[in-house]
Amino acid sequence: MKIIIAGAGIGGLTAAMCLSRAGFDVDVYEAVGELKPLGVGINIQAGAVRILCGLGLEPALAATGIETRELRYANRHGQTIWADPRGRHAGLPWPQFSIHRGELQMILFEAARRMLGSEHLRFGRRLSTFEQKGGKVVARFAGRDGNIAETAEADILIGADGIHSAVRAHFYPNEGPPKWQGILMWRGVTVGWPFLDGATMVQAGHHTQKFVCYPISRTHAERGEALINWICDLHMGDSAMLPREDWNRPGKLGDFLPRFEDWNFGWLDVPGVIRAAHTILEFPMVDRDPLPCWSHGRITLLGDAAHPMYPIGSNGASQAILDGEAITQELSAGGDPEAALQRYEQRRLPPTARIVESNRRRGIDVMLDIVEQRAPQGFSDLESVLPTVELERIVADYKKLVSQDRETLLKLARAQ
Ligand SMILES: Cc1cc2nc3c(=O)[nH]c(=O)nc-3n(C[C@H](O)[C@H](O)[C@H](O)COP(=O)(O)OP(=O)(O)OC[C@H]3O[C@@H](n4cnc5c(N)ncnc54)[C@H](O)[C@@H]3O)c2cc1C
Repeated sequence: MKIIIAGAGIGGLTAAMCLSRAGFDVDVYEAVGELKPLGVGINIQAGAVRILCGLGLEPALAATGIETRELRYANRHGQTIWADPRGRHAGLPWPQFSIHRGELQMILFEAARRMLGSEHLRFGRRLSTFEQKGGKVVARFAGRDGNIAETAEADILIGADGIHSAVRAHFYPNEGPPKWQGILMWRGVTVGWPFLDGATMVQAGHHTQKFVCYPISRTHAERGEALINWICDLHMGDSAMLPREDWNRPGKLGDFLPRFEDWNFGWLDVPGVIRAAHTILEFPMVDRDPLPCWSHGRITLLGDAAHPMYPIGSNGASQAILDGEAITQELSAGGDPEAALQRYEQRRLPPTARIVESNRRRGIDVMLDIVEQRAPQGFSDLESVLPTVELERIVADYKKLVSQDRETLLKLARAQ
């Protein structure tokens, strides 16, 4: 069975490898002429790392990124609200990784090239139009000049073409731009010194003003430094206009640093980290409404094309990776490919829609908002502000929702 994947992002490349390993004939078509290690940091949850480990990628991930040891939530004064061991440090069979998104994409690309062969990874080919006829999909791809450069026929087309998916737009032409609730994010990378244990991801602040950071480079760690990925979220007001979304748009320090000037926690000098950045990018925090369906005959969606979500709880890339495994399993089960795509959708659409909706309501970050609301000046006794039982329920509910609870993960480990 021949499968075309549009998009060589984290989701498209992972799906390509899972499908190729299962014996499918896969071609990936990517719009950009050449992959460059773009973006800043990203976290891959243990349940998704499981799939990458299965593709033999753990050594490359471990040599490049940082095995995340702990996730720590703090208020804007730096007081710890909750700390949770991650991956193997939580007794799971797989690590969680904090890694540069571009480096992760290059690891996936090199592995996909080895597995599929270079001729099956076609760059400078933007999916333009497609149609289904006679049990086949015919897809046309534009070259860099915008003219149709190639036409291909396959049994299945997977749209893994990101938040501005052409495949999604074909089926939902009136959807319009992504949804924005007024939060702008400035993402940066700073060479600095390790903080805490050198492998912790920190989420501090609250809904309208938040700082996230984590180290992402093994090379820097081995030199005694830390390559710190950080994100500043600021709510720009309900009447603010959605700025142009461009993953590579540079950000300006003056637009957000003043709001974080007094965020020195002792164990982390937030303005110091921000000021020393060598890269700053600006991006609005956007998502899209969950769709009624992803699969239309022999065509379906995957990753951000299917379920773009707010970057809360480190789910964007992880859920895209889980999609790749699920579509492979359903197509491998045999039978009618259209029925397999329906099963894939039934398996993945409801849980990812729940995450999109939960993240709009702040997801696991709701603990930050509760503490800010009840104790804006900080606390001397967390228990009196956010009782353990309430906190544990927030955490457990979210982990269950994103399938990162211990029980689900250990069940997956036993099934392998
Ligand atoms: C350049 C870039 C930088 C990013 N930086 C970050 C970051 O720093 N932190 C973060 O958390 N997330 C970042 N993301 C988003 C993150 O990668 C995704 O949220 C997540 O990994 C899900 O991956 P995906 O493969 O579904 O989508 P993406 O990673 O968005 O990949 C989609 C791919 O499809 C390609 N494409 C688009 N349209 C077409 C078309 N018509 N035909 C063929 N190919 C097409 C794109 O060029 C891209 O390579 C970035 C995405 C991009 C594209």
